[in-house]
Amino acid sequence: MKTKVCLQLLLLLILISLWFNAKAQEMKFENMRINMVVDQIVKRGIKDSLVIRAMENVERHLFVPKRYKKYAYHDRPLPIGEGQTISQPYIVGFMSEHLKLNSTSRVLEIGTGSGYQAAVLGEICKEVYSIEIVKSLQERASYLLDSLNYENVSTFLADGYLGLPTYAPFDAIIVTCSPSNIPKTLLEQLVEGGRMIIPVGNTDVEKLVLLKKQNGRISKQNVLPVRFVPMVDKRGISY
Ligand code: SAH
Repeated sequence: MKTKVCLQLLLLLILISLWFNAKAQEMKFENMRINMVVDQIVKRGIKDSLVIRAMENVERHLFVPKRYKKYAYHDRPLPIGEGQTISQPYIVGFMSEHLKLNSTSRVLEIGTGSGYQAAVLGEICKEVYSIEIVKSLQERASYLLDSLNYENVSTFLADGYLGLPTYAPFDAIIVTCSPSNIPKTLLEQLVEGGRMIIPVGNTDVEKLVLLKKQNGRISKQNVLPVRFVPMVDKRGISY
């Protein structure tokens, strides 16, 4: 009888210490996230309060593989498997801010990857549609986004070069892989007054281009030199 009570007490103590450990880890990540937003986002000039709040809310460490979790809030991209990467936090903030999003926006993302950028968009926008060409990444991101209750974010396994005509037009389009030229199909899927941000080029350094559709015309502005993975077709050949 005595041994049984002792064992039960021991089990209880183990459970309590596991719970405290998990809580402490969570608070550590939360502190790291707040520091990331202050140092890498706000201090570098991102002002859009919706973007700042979204990046405070989304737990980036959930979107990276276990062995990289300790670097989840560092100022760098990280490998997510299949030779792909989750973008540097600043680039996520920078691209999101340039789309001028709000709670009525319908957004298309090309390159779901880990699903992190889609989650940030999901915090801000009404509807997010995100396309990924690699099956294992699309499945993993879809599962994670569902388990985090992003009901306004839908992922699709498809070639994003073609956009998503069934759900077009979109208020904004964000492309997180780099083609050598701007896909016309994507521009056609923008609303009048819509914005698209896209890395263009397939050398070592690409340029991030901001496009605006006004009175049926497209204006173009280079906003930042960047490095992105290439946009590829279903055979893996770069566009
Ligand atoms: N936004 C992602 C990072 C994306 S990395 C995140 O937050 O984690 C770029 C992604 O684009 C990769 O996952 C790659 O597989 C995908 N990709 C490349 N070409 C594509 C295409 N034609 N259509 C859709 N996705 C593509």
